[in-house]
Amino acid sequence: MSFEQILGQDRAKKILQNGLRTDKVSHAYLFSGPKGTGRMAAALTFTKALFCERMTDDACGECLSCRKIEHGNHPDVHIILPEGQSIKIDQIRELQREFSYRTQATGRKVYIMEQAEKMTVQAANSLLKFLEEPTSPAVAILITENGQAMLPTIQSRSQMVPFTPQDPNLICQTLVAEGSPAILARAAVYLVNGLEAGRELCGQNWFAEVRNVMLQLGKECEARLPSALLTAQQKLFKTELAEHTDMLFRLFHLWFRDMLNYQYNRQESLVFIDQLDTISKLAWTKSAEGWIRCMDAATEAQKRVRANVSPQLACEQFLVGIQGGT
Ligand SMILES: [Zn+2]
Repeated sequence: MSFEQILGQDRAKKILQNGLRTDKVSHAYLFSGPKGTGRMAAALTFTKALFCERMTDDACGECLSCRKIEHGNHPDVHIILPEGQSIKIDQIRELQREFSYRTQATGRKVYIMEQAEKMTVQAANSLLKFLEEPTSPAVAILITENGQAMLPTIQSRSQMVPFTPQDPNLICQTLVAEGSPAILARAAVYLVNGLEAGRELCGQNWFAEVRNVMLQLGKECEARLPSALLTAQQKLFKTELAEHTDMLFRLFHLWFRDMLNYQYNRQESLVFIDQLDTISKLAWTKSAEGWIRCMDAATEAQKRVRANVSPQLACEQFLVGIQGGT
């Protein structure tokens, strides 16, 4: 991974690469933004670039340092994750001990902290002292969803690096360019956050299968409820797909949204682009309000499954519930 390969996030890349180019690297960075925006990938890339033997404003990905960081065995790079619910003071103390040893090559050490907002107050205060008086030249990268929620004393000692949600169209194009089927990529960008999560979802066989089952149910339940109930039983609840009932409802939600988008003549927003024929026939069988009620029913069914209602029961009631009405 290099900065060039990180999708979007121009502002974050500019801040980090400027630091590398001008050799003005801060002691602490606060990577702030939602999950799925490539914060960890950027943190690792920046770390590689700091140690990279080619000494440019990007990581070469090939030298020994870059490869060691890639494989998680560079002696001067530490990653801190929450232990259970929090990041504890002992973890910061351990880090300080590590840092009191001599560094290997460049004299610099880097630590990356994920979910930095989970530091206990004691851990944060201990980190603060460390930021002020590091025992060796150190660069801290603190990753969090909302940098503004960190202790003001930590904020004031850190360079804020903002990460913003990626444009779904850009993610979709990238997934397709990488080889994901367009019909899956279009749905994936609405279901998960960010490129990496989208790539992972598109790579799951069950995702395409659940999508097929949803389409069959969507077509059948309009006209033939009994066969829809049978299809649900045979293709979903008697198979391994049963554990993905949640995804079935989320796809239904997008399907109903497609009907609305079709009614409003927003065809460029359709998710199920290969189903235009069916959508054009179904879209006018209900009013806009009717489709919105269906979307609500899908959300409701999803909630019930999460609240441990049997997926089969939730599904059957959902299919019955969306019958009729206009
Ligand atoms: Zn390198």
